[in-house]
Amino acid sequence: MIKDLMDIAGRAVRPFKRRAYGRTFVCPVCHLELAFADVDGNGLAVCPVCGAVISLEAPYGHAVPVVVDMEINRAQPKLRLHPMASHLPVGLFPVACLGAGVLLVASLLAPAAWPTALIERATLLVLALAVGLSPLTIAAGVSDWRRRYGGRPYRIIRLKLAFSACFVVLGGLAVALHASGAVFSPATGLIAAASPLELLAAVAYFATLAVNLVVVGTLGHVGGNLVFGR
Ligand SMILES: [Zn+2]
Repeated sequence: MIKDLMDIAGRAVRPFKRRAYGRTFVCPVCHLELAFADVDGNGLAVCPVCGAVISLEAPYGHAVPVVVDMEINRAQPKLRLHPMASHLPVGLFPVACLGAGVLLVASLLAPAAWPTALIERATLLVLALAVGLSPLTIAAGVSDWRRRYGGRPYRIIRLKLAFSACFVVLGGLAVALHASGAVFSPATGLIAAASPLELLAAVAYFATLAVNLVVVGTLGHVGGNLVFGR
């Protein structure tokens, strides 16, 4: 069942992955997927996870990665700063989405007993922390990339940088919409939607959260591959 769902998700993201990575091959040691574009002018690539120095040839268009050396004295992935710092946005953002979801349900059902004003304040706080602290996480990632991977231009890093920028921009928009008071009534914590403009703000807010949840999920998933391999 879970494998079937993973296969369906894998098929759905394949066109996007192809656009981001181009043609790929798999590290013979740790099975991390690398892009042909990661190979330098000498036909060599260094796997960012296991440190295998790979010589890539493609006779008849078929990728044949051969391990010619191993980079030793590599810092263990779990000792790097970025994987630890990533728990701030990756951990907090879904909690903020959960809070916003509870407020959406409360606005539709209008149960009197729910402390919606408190949930609204807490959601804004968690959302602001997730987005506000994310530049530190990104800076830690760039630092790790420069120091541990020699700043090599991997497609997987490029993808992470692009998605990180997306997370900050969309997250900043969500925080601004929430803090403006146009989405939720400051008194009750429920969705106000008293005017077409406020309804538009609420739709934009939830759409932004939904898209950013996919963005941060992708960042976490791809980052997990960089730490644990596949
Ligand atoms: Zn590897």
